[in-house]
Amino acid sequence: MSDAELVLRSTRVITPEGTRAASVAVADGTITAVLPYDAPVPAGARLEDLGDDVLMPGLVDTHVHVNDPGRTEWEGFWTATRAAAAGGITTLIDMPLNSLPPTTTVDHLRIKQDVARDKAHIDVGFWGGALPDNVKDLRPLHDAGVFGFKAFLSPSGVDEFPHLTRDQLATSLAEIAGFDGLLIVHAEDPHHLAAAPQHGGPKYADFLASRPRDAEDTAIATLIAEAKRLNARVHVLHLSSSDALPLIAEARAEGVRITVETCPHYLTLTAEEVPDGASEFKCCPPIREAANQDLLWQALADGTIDCIVTDHSPSTADLKTDDFATAWGGISGLQVSLPAVWSAARERGHSLEDVVRWMSQRTAALAGLDRKGAIEPGRDADFAVLAPDETFTVDPAHLQHRNRVTAYAGRTLYGVVKSTWLRGERIVAGGEFTEPKGRLLTRPH
Ligand SMILES: [Zn+2]
Repeated sequence: MSDAELVLRSTRVITPEGTRAASVAVADGTITAVLPYDAPVPAGARLEDLGDDVLMPGLVDTHVHVNDPGRTEWEGFWTATRAAAAGGITTLIDMPLNSLPPTTTVDHLRIKQDVARDKAHIDVGFWGGALPDNVKDLRPLHDAGVFGFKAFLSPSGVDEFPHLTRDQLATSLAEIAGFDGLLIVHAEDPHHLAAAPQHGGPKYADFLASRPRDAEDTAIATLIAEAKRLNARVHVLHLSSSDALPLIAEARAEGVRITVETCPHYLTLTAEEVPDGASEFKCCPPIREAANQDLLWQALADGTIDCIVTDHSPSTADLKTDDFATAWGGISGLQVSLPAVWSAARERGHSLEDVVRWMSQRTAALAGLDRKGAIEPGRDADFAVLAPDETFTVDPAHLQHRNRVTAYAGRTLYGVVKSTWLRGERIVAGGEFTEPKGRLLTRPH
């Protein structure tokens, strides 16, 4: 047996080759071997016997708005990373906006890293932002280790992060393609949004009509056209419109370098069930109809959609008014994303291995994190320990994120996270957290 300080044993270990009874050996925070269940524990190594609880790779959530510094009354690194850890997430990548400053220059990146350093309970990396006026900052940010660049094609919701016009998209994407970087895009077309009926008020149906599917479809078509022309790598953030799926599948078949994510709320909540005035369900693009949701699941199954990320984007409770037009748009899902997705996935006949592929393996691959996303030798010993058949009811009082507003309140979900491990250390179990042990990550070269 190889050297080990720690051995985690479970009858159900999810590895890239499937689920089996195994013993996972860890030394210096790294997985050194995946051994037979009954392999002898080396002298000096500690055995952690997990029984029948599932040992799976820690989740990698590449879409989180931590808002720190600047809007720390909305969220912060301490609270967001605790919520993530409690939910089995061991790596998050922070979005460049809603913090002040936004992550749009190297100086701003340094400010954010300094703020995050001592508060991170899990590993944290950063996306940069592509704005109309920061093309010259993109390569320095890339060299400083951001994982890629986020751009909006329609207004972002905050003034300091303006969207790109089509010409500006072409300019930024050409610059990013020059160093084979990745552009991640909020794809809603501003002209289609402007042309949609804007009634405002508390009716969810009116809000849904104000963010139509064709706004997404058109923006995605634009993005595909530019990616194809420039042979650039692009990623569609938070896909909600199932109407865009054929476009995406066709582009990929033609060799366009495009990946796609969707979110737990699009997969587990439906427009039909959102109560009027309940703006904890507001996000952009919006939660759509049940029939749309069925097609998103189908696209996950057939690989058209690559991965699932939270788009955790909280605000203070007072900004969640009952007017859908003016309420803050964002859903807080960090802590419950795994059970929410797993509950819906199992009902649809998907396995926990599928969930691991969508929420850990593929998100790690999106970010190029080759030490994350799988239980195999050479990877970080980041784990979630899950009791997949146990249920719990979401009680906002037990959530760790700063503002305990949640669209999942009162839902009974399958999948209790028993503990979460980061580089071989148990960072949370039974609601008890260690001191922050997260590291700041930069894009691997
Ligand atoms: Zn977002």
